[in-house]
Amino acid sequence: MTQTITVIRGDGIGPEIMDATLHVLDAMQVGLAYEEADAGLVALEKHGELLPQATLDSISRNRIALKSPLTTPVGEGFSSINVELRKRFDLYANVRPARSYPNTRARFPGNVDLITVRENTEGAYIGEGQSITEDGETATLVQKITRKGSERIVRYAFDLAVRTGRKKVTVVHKANILKTTSGLFLKVAREVAAQYPQIECTEMIVDNTCMQLVMRPEQFDVIVTTNLFGDIISDLCAGLVGGLGLAPGANIGKDAAIFEAVHGTAPDIAGQGKANPCALMLGAAQMLDHIGQPEQATRLRGAIVATLEAQDNLTPDLGGSGNTMAFAKAIASRI
Ligand code: ATP
Ligand code: MG
Repeated sequence: MTQTITVIRGDGIGPEIMDATLHVLDAMQVGLAYEEADAGLVALEKHGELLPQATLDSISRNRIALKSPLTTPVGEGFSSINVELRKRFDLYANVRPARSYPNTRARFPGNVDLITVRENTEGAYIGEGQSITEDGETATLVQKITRKGSERIVRYAFDLAVRTGRKKVTVVHKANILKTTSGLFLKVAREVAAQYPQIECTEMIVDNTCMQLVMRPEQFDVIVTTNLFGDIISDLCAGLVGGLGLAPGANIGKDAAIFEAVHGTAPDIAGQGKANPCALMLGAAQMLDHIGQPEQATRLRGAIVATLEAQDNLTPDLGGSGNTMAFAKAIASRI
């Protein structure tokens, strides 16, 4: 059975890493059909809009999108197209795996394999109620946490743990100080955790979590936390395993899910064949997991690991002298 997904090639290095990723997906014959849709600078140039209705319709229809990085030009109505997409489709779960891969510049070769599940729709990060007094001396922001928002994200994290055979969920909070907001999140998390007796649940204060991640990252399995903490922690985790070139992410809602690389459009290397396509490919692996093809996801990750191990046509950021498509072909040959 063929499943149609929306493919957004994006800006900067986007088209190159998408070509590379689709090349590998095609080699795998996973039964995907692609419906191309524009967003970002390329959409503004072609259609006069950053996020055309046709693109939104395509994502609504297919419910799954694979997306390259996008440029949001200043003064075009959105502060970020990515944030706009999260809002439009209520993509409440931001899921960021961080795993050690061979022959990368990772801090901890070989022993990190964790997933950060970040709440994506509420909390301090969304900047609700921002104001500053006329004299510019005092700034305010509202931090709102809801039972509904907390419950669905914690439930997502536990369901993910069950589905992927993981053993432990760490609830990251600051309830000792932020007694109402972080306190509510922690309270709801405990209630949800009680419904998953087969998964170990631990609680950790966010500052200690940062220290523990740097000193003993192998103790973590699934981390679930609120928006702003998750933003910071997931980048910390990407850094632990060697940086942006290998960091994928998913934004998941009830009716749609968008899979992507965490990095940006990298205009400094765009069009030169230097971009590492692994982050988007690993995003595609997350997508395969999500659409019920976990064995194909494992196959794709395995081919990437084998290619890194063989140091076959690695891109310059990994110390190699290959180019984006040659690297993709090396990966496809190991599928
Ligand atoms: P944007 O404004 O879209 O975020 P950026 O230049 O900040 O663009 P980032 O992706 O944040 O782009 O990149 C930061 C640095 O990391 C850049 O020097 C870029 O070349 C490098 N980089 C990012 N992604 C890749 C990749 N996939 N392969 C190789 N280098 C990358
Ligand atoms: Mg950037």
